[in-house]
Amino acid sequence: MPLDILTIGEALVEVMRTDIDQPLNEPAPFVGPYPSGAPFIFAVQAARLGLRSAAIGSVGVDAFGDCLLQQLEADGVLTDGLRQMPDQTTGVAFVAYKADGSRSYVFSLGAGGCISGDMLDPALFAELRCFHLMGSTLSISADGLGVCHEAMQMAVDAGALISFDPNLRPELLAPDAARKAFAPFIAASDVILPTEAELLQLTSASALNKAIDTLLEERPDRVIVVTRGAAGCSVYSECGGLDVLGYTVDEIDPTGAGDCFDAAFLTGLLEGKTTLEAAQLANACGALAVTEKGPMAGAKARIDVERFVQSHR
Ligand code: ATP
Ligand code: MG
Repeated sequence: MPLDILTIGEALVEVMRTDIDQPLNEPAPFVGPYPSGAPFIFAVQAARLGLRSAAIGSVGVDAFGDCLLQQLEADGVLTDGLRQMPDQTTGVAFVAYKADGSRSYVFSLGAGGCISGDMLDPALFAELRCFHLMGSTLSISADGLGVCHEAMQMAVDAGALISFDPNLRPELLAPDAARKAFAPFIAASDVILPTEAELLQLTSASALNKAIDTLLEERPDRVIVVTRGAAGCSVYSECGGLDVLGYTVDEIDPTGAGDCFDAAFLTGLLEGKTTLEAAQLANACGALAVTEKGPMAGAKARIDVERFVQSHR
């Protein structure tokens, strides 16, 4: 059966500090491993909402790789795109949280950074409905960027909806280099899911409305969804802009909010919802994502999302 949704990128486990303000340059406790990697959080959220989803990426033949693989299998994410590399270790992200809500990382990408053209199995793209890419994946290496081009072309040829979340990570790629590297992906995207800061940086526009106008002039039929953290999101199309209020929750761990939001918005579109309805579903999944520690713990199943929405009416 064809896939509903496919993505590609860094397979990781995450190991995080147990308390706030424990920097990564001094000894302090960690907890983990938790299965992670933005593309894999995305694929798991889509599966938990009921889509046939998969992510292309690499792990080592080790316990951390098993940790991710077991989670994907438990969620029914198709693992055909996950390569196990005997000569590499599974990627690890070490994460520390600061009192101001910001995070710092040490990445040991290992197998997670290895993406090659031979991983683009045409069977994954046959009749694919939606292909989602993240800027963080495009930022890893020049080779990886080339493979992502190839993957996007295969998805375009399959007639898939193309979606892009810039997920700018200056520690991986400087903004100027990112603007150049991301341009062809933005040009090809039917759905773009940036934060306001990302949108301004990537378009060099002086104001949000100018950036939106430029993107809609290029492709009037596209949708731009600006994510706004706890405030929710704003949806822009040729019909105009709409602010969609977020949900009030206690934020425990912000990791994965954007990925869960993206997966839910695209799930909504694939289900034939309006952009407003899709944005409401996405706000609910984004809000739920921050309520639990662990990158995939807050990615909720459809039934839990529906209960959450009911209880917040
Ligand atoms: P990421 O760091 O995962 O890439 P992001 O910066 O791209 O995240 P955010 O705007 O932080 O994206 O979050 C995505 C969406 O998740 C928001 O639009 C909102 O719907 C939801 N969300 C995030 N944080 C919160 C919060 N504290 N309370 C409620 N909803 C939230
Ligand atoms: Mg993001």
